[in-house]
Amino acid sequence: MPEVSTDSDTADCLFCRIIAGEIPGDFVHQDQRLVAFRDIAPKAPFHVLVAPREHQPHAAASAAADPTIVGELVTAADVVARAEGYDDYRLIFNTGADAGQTVFHTHLHVLAGKLMGEGFA
Ligand code: AMP
Repeated sequence: MPEVSTDSDTADCLFCRIIAGEIPGDFVHQDQRLVAFRDIAPKAPFHVLVAPREHQPHAAASAAADPTIVGELVTAADVVARAEGYDDYRLIFNTGADAGQTVFHTHLHVLAGKLMGEGFA
């Protein structure tokens, strides 16, 4: 895959600091492997980010470092969405700045609660 810009210094990583409790997060789920917290600027009535505790800059890097973790993120996304009554949802991994990634710690967007069309632009 093409080179993806990374911010792999965990001390400067916003989501590492949220996971560590140094910055407040509105958590909806936590376990030993991952956390889920509400997006601070929601793009839908339900907008949660599911992130592994281990810092990696993007989803493919997490998959390479820990082959089961991406599936675990998807399972957690399903659990947290259904817990709030959303059986239909959209999952997004932004990878790289040109794709809209702004926080370089792997996270899965879980969006629900509004009618979403077929477009991605
Ligand atoms: P991305 O653009 O894919 O890297 O997604 C980063 C997401 O993190 C954006 O949707 C932001 O709104 C969200 N975000 C930024 N800061 C915080 C924060 N302190 N707590 C929760 N979500 C945040």
